[in-house]
Amino acid sequence: MIALNGVAASSGAALGQFFLLTTEIPATSPAPSSLTPDEEKRSLTAAIEYVGADLSERAERSTGELRDILLAVSEIATDPALIEEAHTFIDQGHTASFSISQATNIFKELLESSGGYLAERVSDVANICDRILCRIAGVEYPEIPHFQQPTILIARDLSPADTTDLQSEQILAIVTEGGGPTSHTAIIARSRSIPAVVACPGIVEYAKSHYGQLLAVEATTGEVIFDPPTEIQSRIIAKIERIRKRKEQLVTRTPFGYQTVDGRTIPIYANIGRVADTKVAIEAGADGVGLLRTELLYLDRATAPSLDEQIEIYTQLFQPFASQKVVIRTLDAGADKPMAFINFDDEPNPALGVRGYRTIHEHEDLMRVQLQAIATAIKNTGTDVWVMAPMITLPEEAQNFVDLARSFGIKTVGVMIEVPAAIFHADEITKICDFVSIGTNDLGQYLHAADRESAPLAGFNDPWQPALLRAVHLVAQAGLRNNCPVGVCGEAASDAALAAVLVGLGVSSLSCSVSTLRDVAAGVTALSFSDLQLAAVAALGAPTSQTAKNLAREHLLALEELGL
Ligand code: PEP
Ligand code: MG
Repeated sequence: MIALNGVAASSGAALGQFFLLTTEIPATSPAPSSLTPDEEKRSLTAAIEYVGADLSERAERSTGELRDILLAVSEIATDPALIEEAHTFIDQGHTASFSISQATNIFKELLESSGGYLAERVSDVANICDRILCRIAGVEYPEIPHFQQPTILIARDLSPADTTDLQSEQILAIVTEGGGPTSHTAIIARSRSIPAVVACPGIVEYAKSHYGQLLAVEATTGEVIFDPPTEIQSRIIAKIERIRKRKEQLVTRTPFGYQTVDGRTIPIYANIGRVADTKVAIEAGADGVGLLRTELLYLDRATAPSLDEQIEIYTQLFQPFASQKVVIRTLDAGADKPMAFINFDDEPNPALGVRGYRTIHEHEDLMRVQLQAIATAIKNTGTDVWVMAPMITLPEEAQNFVDLARSFGIKTVGVMIEVPAAIFHADEITKICDFVSIGTNDLGQYLHAADRESAPLAGFNDPWQPALLRAVHLVAQAGLRNNCPVGVCGEAASDAALAAVLVGLGVSSLSCSVSTLRDVAAGVTALSFSDLQLAAVAALGAPTSQTAKNLAREHLLALEELGL
């Protein structure tokens, strides 16, 4: 038996044969080309056109987040700047293959130095180059095969294009050497309920030397075991069976929200970013929306959306929740989500730069138009809409935002707590605001000074990190003292066990990704509030994220029964 440990990227378990996706891409050489530059350019153009068209076709046959990602990737593939860069190498006498690899390397370095969301695009650009190289060489790109029987897929990493035609029903689990909890692999796996472990060092080499052996994957803990002994096999089989049974059952919900077994009501909301998400959120049993990321509506825009345009889309987004609650967030532009119509100077460190609420100093007009549009959409629909600002650091910023939003007639105004300084101002901020919502994704990265997109730093961004739990506790307790509801809308609320701990820490509502909502609801409704409090106390005292998880789970045994 060989046991490896990676980062849990979804939940569930698997036992079965594995397939190692090896990506043998034709090598390139700096040797001079035997063709003329024009011939090389024609060959490159043909390959780029083919790959660009293939990627947009893949986008067309995809849905949701994957579709958006693929559309962006197909634009990168045909970016004139990339082609121009490759042409300069061709003009120096190099082959089309060598030239596109060199141009790609320059692009990758640029993206890497930008950090955040752009740095995450590096693997997309590399994948585009691999596809172009295969096309030039006239060989098939090594796609994920259509498996005849359910199989565990192992890969160095998976690009969005790789996953387009993934037959979810034949994939028992995914294990990758690269990636992190927010990588494409993790997003795709969660949205399709495939157990997944990412950032698992050594998995590719072990897979090569252990071909044909049985593999066990525990996606809740991140354990991957080659040739598991019979007791581990039985444990995994029993867990898979428990998950199957749970998925067949409906989770009961009261009109006020989900309830623990001893009757404590915990509303569970959905995080959404598009009109299409409203339907799936309702189908998943959401109590409303706990985070509407408005910047996602306009990421690809060169100019700011008009007042009327915003009124229309917010009205569409609020309408389906007429009898429920929607928490809408003002634009969180900047860092990993730059927006063309909000101009930033070249910031050396965008995650620590002018982001979210901080853009108000240069763009108060945009904030005013957005608040006006939200206020009008509230009148149009009658939905109970709460409005909040991201990236608030100081109480005076919270006060300014509350005053500004109220001046537009918005009744319920709050802020996100995701900057460490705001934790120490939690008492003042929870006195100023009608509610606060903790963004554990950013709070985790800023507390640990670790980029949330970085695979090598994924451990710091584990939402079970005790420093993050202690921060949530401080804010939740301030909220209780000042009668201010405290929700959590970061990814931490999408892990059923951690969601339970957050409630035990004093958080009054949860907002999670739609794909995990049923699991989170199943967990909360299977436990008593005192279990949640005991789990929270145990996790708070833990020295590491792993011990926090283990100690908390000792009080959450009902989750085990549900395979969560
Ligand atoms: C967060 O930071 O936890 C959050 C919910 O906001 P976003 O992920 O959009 O930054
Ligand atoms: Mg955030």
